[in-house]
Amino acid sequence: MERTGRMNHAFRYIEPHGHMVSRTTDDYQAMVTAGCLAVCEPAFWAGFDRGSAAGFRDYFRQLTEYEPARAAKYLLPHFSWLCLNPKESEDLALARDVLALIPEFLDRPNVLGIGEIGLNRNTRNELVVLEQHIDLAVRHDQLILVHTPHLEDKLKGTRLTLDALRAHPGVKPERVIIDHVEEHTVKLVLDRGFWAGITLYPHSKASAPRAVDMVECGDADRIWVNSACDWGVSDPLAVPKAALEMRRRGHSVDEVDRVFFRNPFRFLSQCPKFRLPGGPEA
Ligand SMILES: [Zn+2]
Repeated sequence: MERTGRMNHAFRYIEPHGHMVSRTTDDYQAMVTAGCLAVCEPAFWAGFDRGSAAGFRDYFRQLTEYEPARAAKYLLPHFSWLCLNPKESEDLALARDVLALIPEFLDRPNVLGIGEIGLNRNTRNELVVLEQHIDLAVRHDQLILVHTPHLEDKLKGTRLTLDALRAHPGVKPERVIIDHVEEHTVKLVLDRGFWAGITLYPHSKASAPRAVDMVECGDADRIWVNSACDWGVSDPLAVPKAALEMRRRGHSVDEVDRVFFRNPFRFLSQCPKFRLPGGPEA
């Protein structure tokens, strides 16, 4: 068998945002058998605040050494994004120490960029650390993956984030994805030239029907769909299930392939390290 995650499936997809350190190996097996050809893992909150920058160093090693090796046992290429997550960016001293150690990991073969950065409660300190991350990404020519806040904070947080990105002269919008968009933020993001990510959660964020609605209403050229599967209530197979919903509505195999494989492939390939064994070219 070819050394990729692709079995004998017509359907292929990329999981562009999955917190695999909190998943079991059963999930890797299920994703690969469902047609997953690559998984990308942004750095995020552990469910508790880490006590020191040393805790982040260990986490970055997990994302760049241990997790890719675990995924490889199931023939799945694993990529990662690095940052201090928004929930822990209230502590400016910790943020300074963590941002200082990120550059030593940026050359690792599976690191695609800086993320998921952004805002959580839209506080002043969060905004300061967001601006520092943006500057770090630009100085090191990295792709950027942005988390947007939940529920009532989302619209304001998205606007603040887009303003911060636009304020930095080195930011290229086509190299930035704004994730967790919803119906009221997707157009705002796409109109400013950024990519938009739709996140599927069982109880919050988007459901499969809502995600497909957004794809049908928007400029689907710059949209990806992810499950963000993590340690909370989430579904590592949410992406192929949304693809099924799209097919069920009568969209063609080619259209589904564009949204679930070629789009994320195109965005991620802006980082030369994003290569899938044996192709495939999008
Ligand atoms: Zn996430």
